[in-house]
Amino acid sequence: MPEVNLLKSLDYSVLQQCMHCGMCLPTCPTYDETKFERSSPRGRIRLMREVADGRLAVSPAFAEEMSYCLGCLACQTACPAGVDYATLFETARGEVERQQVVGGLRRRFIRWVTLSVLFRRPRLLRAFGRALWLYQRLGVQSAVRALGIPRILPKRLRRLEAMTPTVRPPFSNKRIQPTESASQPKYRVALLTGCVQDLLYANINRATADVLLANGCEVLTPPVQYCCGSLHAHNGELDLARDLARKNLDLFPVAELDAIITNAGGCGSHLKKYAELLHDDAAYHERAKQWDAKVRDIHEWLIQINCRPPKAAPLPAASSSLQPPGSSLLITYDASCHLLHGQKIARQPLELLRLIPGVKLVPLPESDWCCGAAGVYTITQPEQSAKLLARKIDHLASTGAQVLASGNPGCLLQLETGAGRDLRTAGIRVCHPVELLSEAYRAEQR
Ligand code: SF4
Ligand code: SF4
Repeated sequence: MPEVNLLKSLDYSVLQQCMHCGMCLPTCPTYDETKFERSSPRGRIRLMREVADGRLAVSPAFAEEMSYCLGCLACQTACPAGVDYATLFETARGEVERQQVVGGLRRRFIRWVTLSVLFRRPRLLRAFGRALWLYQRLGVQSAVRALGIPRILPKRLRRLEAMTPTVRPPFSNKRIQPTESASQPKYRVALLTGCVQDLLYANINRATADVLLANGCEVLTPPVQYCCGSLHAHNGELDLARDLARKNLDLFPVAELDAIITNAGGCGSHLKKYAELLHDDAAYHERAKQWDAKVRDIHEWLIQINCRPPKAAPLPAASSSLQPPGSSLLITYDASCHLLHGQKIARQPLELLRLIPGVKLVPLPESDWCCGAAGVYTITQPEQSAKLLARKIDHLASTGAQVLASGNPGCLLQLETGAGRDLRTAGIRVCHPVELLSEAYRAEQR
């Protein structure tokens, strides 16, 4: 193990920025739950500083506090001192992994298989996705569950099995050509298809490409793409995150593009920080700066280029089974934390939804509060994740909305689970705003 304490190696100004005012406390879901100072942003920053100063050892208790933090960055939005909590949090998790204070061989093996193998090899990840799809499609999963086999699994594996998401092929490379273009393109953009997004929501990637085409873009979509590395960075694997950033910089012709488009809020906030991640890599730092300047979340880009309002409403059948014919479609919007707090993109998704004919937007209480998805939080902190989801679903039920829109695959997956599970909200459609936009553009042609 190298001797460098990652928190100690941080620029000290980042560590001492917090002035202990407590303005962030009411916005923190974990502090709200426990009311413990150590589970608040201020408390966690204090713990990190103690570790950096060598007054506190990285213990299992410290590791648990870092794991309990959602990384939702609501504290960053609330902070008047401009604390860079994202950097502090990722570095602290990195230090926990470096010192290997938690977990045994099994945890290390699972992390190696997922973070070092599957999520670094896009072809292998797709092969795994296809195998999982066959397992689900051929009824093996249902049979396994009907026979009660998960009951003999260890508790953690049983929980994982119950949460296995439904894989939805065809994947992005079968839905989107490497180059597609509007008739007289004004912009040349690249579309990032993601890793989880590719396996579970390739339809959203197709919808994103359609909306870009309808707005005068030439769209480059390399058929095989790498994970952006946010999963790795958020889980303390900063070297793996750097490796993936370099691979992406090699893959895309950054200098020839007007924008690099992502439709995943969680990925976007990481993708915009490649230069920071590669700050001491002389070979890549300049290109990373160029990359950061061109990465755009799809909502941000569409508003920037004056998105063309669709002339028709999305078809009711495609939008919600609850919509009576001739009535407005009631839509509510839940902000992805990393879109809102990480990238400060708040108004653009709402402005886009308001462009769609036949749509009425209703506010979602606490739409800026984490839904409990938070990367792998559903696996690492299932109880707290479930509490946050239940709170979200209660608010959703209070809106009467027929459609819940959100701009991040992790949130969509979490919200779909909640909407399907809760009888009051069953039948509510959960989708990405670009799906509604693309359906409206398609309806124009009918
Ligand atoms: S990232 Fe979210 S959970 Fe973590 S300290 Fe900040 S507000 Fe609390
Ligand atoms: S709001 Fe900012 S400065 Fe104030 S306690 Fe929280 S992190 Fe520290």
